Amino acid sequence: MHPFDYTRVSDTREALNAGRRGGRYIAGGTTLVDLMRETVERPGALVDISDLPLREVTVTERGGLHIGALVRMAEAAAHPKVRTLYPVISEALELSASAQLRNMATIGGNIMQRTRCTYFRDVTADCNKREPGAGCAALHGYNRTHAILGTSDHCVATHPSDVAVAFAALEATVHVLGPDGERTVPFADFLLLPGHTPHREHALRNGELITAVEIPALPRPLRSGYLKVRDRQSYEFALTSAAVALHVRGGVIREAKVAVGGVGTVPWKLPAVERHLVGERPSDALWEAAASRAADGARPLAHNRFKLELLQRTVERQLRIVGGTK
Ligand code: SF4
Repeated sequence: MHPFDYTRVSDTREALNAGRRGGRYIAGGTTLVDLMRETVERPGALVDISDLPLREVTVTERGGLHIGALVRMAEAAAHPKVRTLYPVISEALELSASAQLRNMATIGGNIMQRTRCTYFRDVTADCNKREPGAGCAALHGYNRTHAILGTSDHCVATHPSDVAVAFAALEATVHVLGPDGERTVPFADFLLLPGHTPHREHALRNGELITAVEIPALPRPLRSGYLKVRDRQSYEFALTSAAVALHVRGGVIREAKVAVGGVGTVPWKLPAVERHLVGERPSDALWEAAASRAADGARPLAHNRFKLELLQRTVERQLRIVGGTK
């Protein structure tokens, strides 16, 4: 591990000042410390923001949810309002990582976590994300777990977060505070496609801090849930996953929110699947037809062609579970 300075701040102004001077924010540290040990990350200064007052979950005036950036994953998963209003968030969190990690890791840190691409974490491998211009060892290497959607010729790494898939499905907003004040960023614009610049992963500007994630109010009743498919049943990242929320009234689907994980360079929203569902009556035939659009535009690699069918099956199964025809 390389030497670094460490500061613990207790108010946001102090944090922003330290951030503006180039300090790297840290809270749970469950990703960053690992990467520092492996020398993948070498920040010169850490700014510990664990004491900032960003640890509440509240219901917004319109009936949505405001989740503070420093709420621990386990706290958010167990929160009664999260469980009752958006089970898809609780389920995504509970299927993530391990109990120990969920007790430490924060919501803000979770969406900022970096890829699990093994070449990214191996400092002897070529990796455009770690070292712009170096090349991408995964493109022609062993890429079974890599992305099939949103890839470029410069990077094919998946985004590893589960809860970010739920946030993408629900069309969340990220609240941000920086030297220029507060702003909000739609979740769809927060995590960036790799394109030519895979080292640029998010929309935060220099010194900015995530303060909360807001989930919009959605029509009730709303049924939602998260399905994760992986090589083993615990402490493993998704090969495919699906976050689904459905509003059904009078026997007709009035609103559908669907996003998938384990397959995209960012959590991947499926508008074609959503459009196929809205205005229709739940049925097994509908789930199958809608899910057949899940892999539209996918570009499989040498070792992950199986994800095309697995993705469609994952979406179909989760539509059936949430839609109540299983
Ligand atoms: Fe690096 Fe992305 Fe290639 Fe992995 S897929 S080696 S993270 S550039």
